[in-house]
Amino acid sequence: MEQSAEEIKQNEAALDKFKMDFFDLHGKAAIITGGNTGLGQGYAVALAEAGADLFIPAHSRRGWATTGSMIEKRGQRVEFMQIDLTQSGAADKVVQKALATFGHIDILINNAGMIRRNPLLESKDEDWEAVININLNAVYHMSMAASKIFAEQKSGKIINIGSMLSFQGGKFIPSYTASKHGVAGLTKAFASEMGAYNVQVNAIAPGYIKTANTAPIRADKARNQEILDRIPAGHWAEPAELMGVAVFLSSKAADYVNGHVLAVDGGYLVR
Ligand code: NAP
Repeated sequence: MEQSAEEIKQNEAALDKFKMDFFDLHGKAAIITGGNTGLGQGYAVALAEAGADLFIPAHSRRGWATTGSMIEKRGQRVEFMQIDLTQSGAADKVVQKALATFGHIDILINNAGMIRRNPLLESKDEDWEAVININLNAVYHMSMAASKIFAEQKSGKIINIGSMLSFQGGKFIPSYTASKHGVAGLTKAFASEMGAYNVQVNAIAPGYIKTANTAPIRADKARNQEILDRIPAGHWAEPAELMGVAVFLSSKAADYVNGHVLAVDGGYLVR
C-alpha cells in the first residue's frame, strides 16, 4: 500500500518541530538521587552535557567537588543536598528544595541504592530492611513526590534504576533481588497511571558496571571470570557506557516510550 500523503506530512512536521534536537535538555531540571558518584555521576554529567540543570541529593558529601565541576564546566547549574533518603519525609524535602532552586522539575532519576551480600540462610533482618528502604521504598516516595508535580504540569520523566536482578534470582543477595524486581514493578505501575498525564516512567537495568558497589565481586577471581564468560561484549562496562541511554529516556526522543525496563548489559541477559 502507498504511504499516505497525510503520514508523510506528519513526519515532516515532526522533524520540523524537533529540528534534530531530539536529545536536547536545555531548560530542563533533573533530580538524580546519588548523582555524586558511580553510575549516578555518569547520568548527571551526561544530562548536563545535553543541557539540563541538576539537583543531587546524596547521603554523604563524597564526590561533590568533582561532580560539581564536571557539571559547571558544561555551563549548567548544580545544587547538592545531603540527606538520608530512607528517612520519613525526605522525598518531599528533596522535591520542594529542587523546585525552590530551579522553579521547575522535569526529570527524576531514582539511582541511589545499595547491596548487602550474604548467603540466604545467614541473611539478617537488618540487611533486608536497609536494602529495601533505599532501593525500593525511597524510589516509591521520590516517585510519588515528583508525580504530584508532574501530573500538575502535564509532563515529566521518571527513570528508575533496576538491575540484572530485576530479571534473575541471583545468589547471596535476596534483599537486592527483591528490591530490583520491585523497581521493575513500580516502573510499570507508575507508567500505567502516569501516561495519562504525559509522564513517562521507564527503568534502566544496568548489567555489570565498574563502580565501588561491584568492587568485591570484581576482586573475586572465579566470580569475575564467571560473569565475563556470560557477557557477549566481553567486558565489564564503565559508567560512561550508560550515559546515552539516560539522556535518551530523559529526552523527547522517548516521549512514546513508557513502562519499559531497558537492559544495558552488553548482551548478558541473552546468554
Ligand atoms: P555506588 O557507587 O555505591 O553509589 C550509590 C549511591 O547511592 C551513592 O551516591 C550513595 O550516596 C547513594 N545512597 C545510598 N544510600 C543512600 C541513602 N540512604 N540516602 C541517600 N543516598 C544514598 O553505586 P553504583 O554502583 O553507582 O549504583 C547506583 C545504582 O545502580 C544503584 O541503584 C545500583 O543498585 C544500580 N546498579 C549498579 C550496578 C553496577 O554494576 N554497579 C548494576 C546494576 C544496578 P553516598 O555516596 O553519599 O553514600
